[in-house]
Amino acid sequence: MEQIRVDLKTEDMPKRWYNIQADMPNPLAPPIHPATNEPATPEQMNVIFPMNLLEQEMSPQRWWEIPQEVLDIYALWRPTPLQRATRLEKALGTPAKIYYKNESVSPAGSHKPNTAVPSAYYNKQAGIKRLSTETGAGQWGSALSMATNFFGLECTVYMVRISYEQKPYRKSLINTWGASIYPSPSDQTEAGRRFREEYPDTPGTLGMAITEAVEDAVNNKDTNYSLGSVLNHVCLHQTIIGEEALKQMALLGENPDVVIGCVGGGSNFAGLAFPYIREKMAGMDVRILAVEPGSCPTVTKGVYAYDYGDTGKMAPIVKMHTLGHTFVPPGIHAGGLRYHGMAPLVSRLVKDNLVEAISYGQTGCFEAGLLFARSEGLVPAPESTHAIKAAVDEAIRAKEEGKERVILFNLSGHGHFDMAAYDAYLAGQLSDYEYPTELVEQALSHLPQIG
Ligand SMILES: *Cc1c(COP(=O)(O)O)cnc(C)c1O
Repeated sequence: MEQIRVDLKTEDMPKRWYNIQADMPNPLAPPIHPATNEPATPEQMNVIFPMNLLEQEMSPQRWWEIPQEVLDIYALWRPTPLQRATRLEKALGTPAKIYYKNESVSPAGSHKPNTAVPSAYYNKQAGIKRLSTETGAGQWGSALSMATNFFGLECTVYMVRISYEQKPYRKSLINTWGASIYPSPSDQTEAGRRFREEYPDTPGTLGMAITEAVEDAVNNKDTNYSLGSVLNHVCLHQTIIGEEALKQMALLGENPDVVIGCVGGGSNFAGLAFPYIREKMAGMDVRILAVEPGSCPTVTKGVYAYDYGDTGKMAPIVKMHTLGHTFVPPGIHAGGLRYHGMAPLVSRLVKDNLVEAISYGQTGCFEAGLLFARSEGLVPAPESTHAIKAAVDEAIRAKEEGKERVILFNLSGHGHFDMAAYDAYLAGQLSDYEYPTELVEQALSHLPQIG
């Protein structure tokens, strides 16, 4: 039988994270403090992040040793399998080979624990007692709850209200791992109370929930803030995915022609893609493709500019692709892809033509997700169906061109908490929404003026 799954042994798990800042053709623009409009110093950011993580955030050091305590927890589900979707290939009648890295096997159901665990570890090392955070679809809140629990830290999660109501079992999971959770905007913070007064019917947004979590950390000395995407150190931690994939593909004697990931804040994509971008810069012939929803087209329709990371202007200002911090996303079902910004690292690499970006409407993505579930068995997260849709399109093109093609995509999570979205799709209740360019242009007038 043809090999359809490559597992690495625990002892073959990579022991280092890869920092692409060491090899990028152009460096990142510095983060700006939202109160002073001047470059933010590590001391200023130390109010909400520990120094050890800030070091990883700012350093050009190429490799970072993964602490043994983190490796020990990773070993609960890592190395994750690299699988070949032969049944999907057959369903498509394509000559292409489709491989996927299966990050859905983590206890929280996605790639997010790859950074939640080191985030909790480094904060514990720094003497912090509690972490505050936001969550959109609930994946990040779950992952951080699990991780803080392992290290004996408390955790407070502000969950976007609409998702809190739509996905009650994410709350149950977060409570099971011992964390507290509030629908955002909440009455727990000054910003939350202000948002509720200003926008009484708001479904909540990630931008608002981030403001609440940051305020919580700023006001409490023993509390830090933890972000599950976007930041450099988060992308760094996720590179364990791509480092494993390189080893697994080497065992198969394969190099991908195209590497694909969905992008919300950019972290699961970065995790698989950055090690491959290193190889591309060293001469590997590979395309790198980021996939986003047409309803939140940060990279394909947004601008590359300095913007606030949150609605309440408390988080650092960073240079990235953005739809504007005033963006209120339409209620698409891939909740994890609804952020107004993009990881500065991913944005810079798009600018430098090392990464291509494409957007798809949600119905085409669910269609691809359903095909995947019915051929491979695994029910993907709505976010992950964007990567699947792109992989399917690449495979169909290979068939039309009569060419072989090796496709590798990141299966960022499973969809077991997202069955209401599948119900809506199956009942024909989902529609596509293209975010209008005019709204992007309007939002530009609210961008901070830097430099
Ligand atoms: C959070 C999430 C995403 C989007 O976040 P990134 O930082 O862009 O990876 C994608 N897929 C799943 C399953 C998620 O939970």
